[in-house]
Amino acid sequence: MITLEVLGTTRTTANFTTVTLGGPELEHFRPTGDDQTVRLFFPREGQDGLRMPTLNNEAWMAEVLLLPKSRRPWVRNFTIRRSRPEAGEVDIEFALHAGSPASSWATQARPGDPAGIFDMGVSYLPPDGVGGQLLAGDESALPAILAILENAPDSLAAEVFLEVPETADIRHDVVKPEGVRVHWLPRNDRTARPGGLALETVTKAELPSGRCYAWLAGEAKLPTGVRRHLVNERGWPKQDIAFYGYWRYGRASPG
Ligand SMILES: Cc1cc2nc3c(=O)[nH]c(=O)nc-3n(C[C@H](O)[C@H](O)[C@H](O)COP(=O)(O)OP(=O)(O)OC[C@H]3O[C@@H](n4cnc5c(N)ncnc54)[C@H](O)[C@@H]3O)c2cc1C
Repeated sequence: MITLEVLGTTRTTANFTTVTLGGPELEHFRPTGDDQTVRLFFPREGQDGLRMPTLNNEAWMAEVLLLPKSRRPWVRNFTIRRSRPEAGEVDIEFALHAGSPASSWATQARPGDPAGIFDMGVSYLPPDGVGGQLLAGDESALPAILAILENAPDSLAAEVFLEVPETADIRHDVVKPEGVRVHWLPRNDRTARPGGLALETVTKAELPSGRCYAWLAGEAKLPTGVRRHLVNERGWPKQDIAFYGYWRYGRASPG
């Protein structure tokens, strides 16, 4: 359990804000790159400071849930978008959506505000012997996918499908190996359910042949739908597909 503070915020694009965290306790954090995930703790509105769990094992969740709401922090899953150990900084990039606890906190965060992290490790683990890769996600998976690409070996060949809310969210400065093609999928439709466009596009796309690895994340129907398609329609072995429901439409995260 590492307690940090906000060093600054940057509006990355129309629907994304990056919060930079730092502080002396960051020396206990071991950055691994790729989709390194943390549990992010931040205070509820009106709370005076952040009360972090004291347990450093999985029992922390029970400890948090036993606290009365007046003292319980919000807990959400986020990806370490970038880490700069020499400067003592990590960035977390938030896909903003109307009025949720994490979006409100990220847009209102000010230098000196407290936040805590608990390292949950990585899930992008391509096995030896795979050729091409397929990465697909909605805006919640954008930080993970961009971090994976920045960390990738020059030899990586991959088709990447990234659904974002608007054209204005497309990044023109993606750091990636030459053999990676990024297909940006802006919804440009406030009423469309996130993930649907990426799911439809991947099912019609030309994908790498031979033994491949897929990493899929986003609103639960996107990764589960793409996996079902890859297994049933394209005969991909289940063990070569990593899929993660990052959030569920219409349902708040527990915690
Ligand atoms: C391993 C992992 C890594 C993740 N990394 C990131 C990351 O780096 N950046 C990031 O932005 N998200 C990331 N997420 C997703 C994030 O944890 C969820 O989106 C979470 O619900 C955000 O909390 P909240 O307080 O904004 O909304 P909640 O209080 O959980 O939900 C409130 C409402 O908002 C809806 N909602 C939740 N997320 C979204 C969304 N993205 N778009 C539209 N509606 C939404 C819910 O369905 C609910 O109706 C990650 C999730 C996992 C599991």
